[in-house]
Amino acid sequence: MIIIKTDEQINIIREGGKHLASVLYKVKDFIKPGLSTKDLDMYAEKLIREYGDTPAFLNYRPVGAKKPFPASLCVSVNDEVVHGIPKKDRILVEGDIVCIDLGVKHKGMFTDMALTVAVGKISAEDKKLLEVTEQALHVGIAAAKAGARVGDIGYAIETFVKAKGKYGIVDVLSGHGVGVEIHEDPYIPNFGKKGTGIILKKGMVIAIEPMLNLGSKNVMIAKDDWTIKTTDKKRSAHFECTIAITDDEPEILTKI
Ligand code: MG
Repeated sequence: MIIIKTDEQINIIREGGKHLASVLYKVKDFIKPGLSTKDLDMYAEKLIREYGDTPAFLNYRPVGAKKPFPASLCVSVNDEVVHGIPKKDRILVEGDIVCIDLGVKHKGMFTDMALTVAVGKISAEDKKLLEVTEQALHVGIAAAKAGARVGDIGYAIETFVKAKGKYGIVDVLSGHGVGVEIHEDPYIPNFGKKGTGIILKKGMVIAIEPMLNLGSKNVMIAKDDWTIKTTDKKRSAHFECTIAITDDEPEILTKI
């Protein structure tokens, strides 16, 4: 079921989104070689709680998950695509790329956002992967107008990415509605056909989140039952924003 949000609900999501973006950018600035992925998680959780907000992923257990997610921040390094579990002994080194993905509950409403960050100096190939993935997110957002369809978003992302090079677009994971729950209908795939899928309406709030791989699109779940990794061990990037569909341009709600 798609939940159309009231203006009042969107105001709360916008407020929470501001907190979330500010936390994520602070974690981005904090990232450096020598820190563990658990250090990032602890820092993010401290900052969220300073706002009086709640980390949405901590102990989150979606249908089908073998165990709840044990941290506030998903930290996915290099060939890890998403849902990486922070660990004390996973130490970041120069040249890594690290995805930080955070959900926040603010006054009862949820927002979701992710960035992929370079640790020190990274290769030109990785730098381009991050740039193309972030641009793909914004191409997807631009297509998310009232009256357009969900397939138009995926079509825009897929067409853009294919013109940029040989990237694997992860297709078993997708964006989603967000707000009352952290994951709501509809699914927002990162591929699609123009003019297909449900019609976007004012008041819908969705998370768009392209995940691009340097190699094939294929991914697998690691032994920890959470981390999604590329099967060919090539690197992956992920960017995500929560947006509102309006009568005009889509509004990014996860921004400072
Ligand atoms: Mg999400």
